[in-house]
Formats: sequence, C-alpha cells, structure tokens
Amino acid sequence: MPAPARSRHRPDVAVLRIGHRPGRDPRLTTHLALAARALGASRLFLHPPDPELAERISAVVRRWGGAFEVVGVSQWKPVLENYRGGVIHLTMYGEPVARTIPRLKNGRRLLVVVGGAKVPPTLFGLADHNIAVGAQPHSEVAALAVLLDRLLGPTPNTRFRGAAQRIVPTRRGKRVVRAGERRQR
Ligand code: SAM
Repeated sequence: MPAPARSRHRPDVAVLRIGHRPGRDPRLTTHLALAARALGASRLFLHPPDPELAERISAVVRRWGGAFEVVGVSQWKPVLENYRGGVIHLTMYGEPVARTIPRLKNGRRLLVVVGGAKVPPTLFGLADHNIAVGAQPHSEVAALAVLLDRLLGPTPNTRFRGAAQRIVPTRRGKRVVRAGERRQR
C-alpha cells in the first residue's frame, strides 16, 4: 500500500527589518510586512519599533486572517544573536540565491535580515548566510518576496485561518466572501 502523502516540510521564517525610519518611510516597511505575511513568514521583528505600523498590520491580520505579528525591538543585535535557527542576511553582495536554497529548505527555523538605506558592516559576519537575489541593487521587498517564494512557495493559498473575509480567485472582477457567508456562484 502506498504511504500516505505527507505535507512538504516548510521552515518557520521570521524577518528582521533594521534601519526602519518611523514616520519617514512607512509605506516601504508596510509593504515589507505585507509581503512577508502574504508569502508565508510568521513574524516581522522591526527595529526601531513603530507601534502605529504594527497596529496597521494587526488590522490587516484581523481582516485577512493568519497569525502574523510585528514585534518592535529596540536593539536588533540580540534578536539575531539569540535566534535559535539559521540567520540569512539579504544583500546584493552575497551568494546567489539559487545556490543556497537547497541547503536552507531543510532548516526548521530561519531568520531573514533585511536592511534599509545603510547596512552596518558587522551584519555580514553575524549572519550564517549572506544571500543575493541578483548582484544588482534593488529593493528589500523584492528580495524578500523572491526568497520566500523560493523557500516556501508555491505561494500559500488565499485561506488564512480566522479570516473575516477572503478572496475567491476569478479570471475577471473581484469576488470576496465574508466569514459565515456561503460562496456565491
Ligand atoms: N546601500 C545598502 C547597503 O549598504 O548595502 C543597501 C540598501 S537596499 C535599498 C536595502 C536592502 O534591500 C538591503 O539591505 C538588502 O537587504 C536588500 N537588497 C537590495 N538589493 C538586493 C539584492 N540584489 N539581493 C538581496 N537583497 C537586496
């Protein structure tokens, strides 16, 4: 008798965003948090803390489900040093992502660190892996999205636990079902 199909192993992935500037780039860090949540990360450690941004993301979680959280941290180094799992630093100077993914997929817990305008040089030595998504400068949101898709993909379905509403994918138009409503044809 064939063995029952087992779900594919997926590491728990947390993200540490350093160099956030509260009040100065709320959209960029908000997009980073939204991409992290939608593509399967479990939490975002945010340095320095930004309670307003954390609350905006909590509102998204209440509406669209899941257990994603933004955790403000006043010091970023201890998060990295005390993390019980592999630490990945996303940087255009690192090893190509395609080369490193097979080694990372079997990990149980991973912390992905992304920088802002300036990255402290010590980060390169503190990380277990310095990984590049192409050796060109671009964006932390793009780099994180590609990494998460390679690690956890294909992209999780639209059902997040406890969602107040969810999207029914359609070829044209918008279809949204609220909790308790039956899916309409
Ligand atoms: N000038 C910064 C530095 O000192 O490296 C980089 C700033 S970049 C706008 C912000 C962040 O995007 C980086 O810290 C890195 O996490 C991510 N990033 C940008 N390009 C990347 C690439 N090609 N591969 C991986 N991560 C990248």
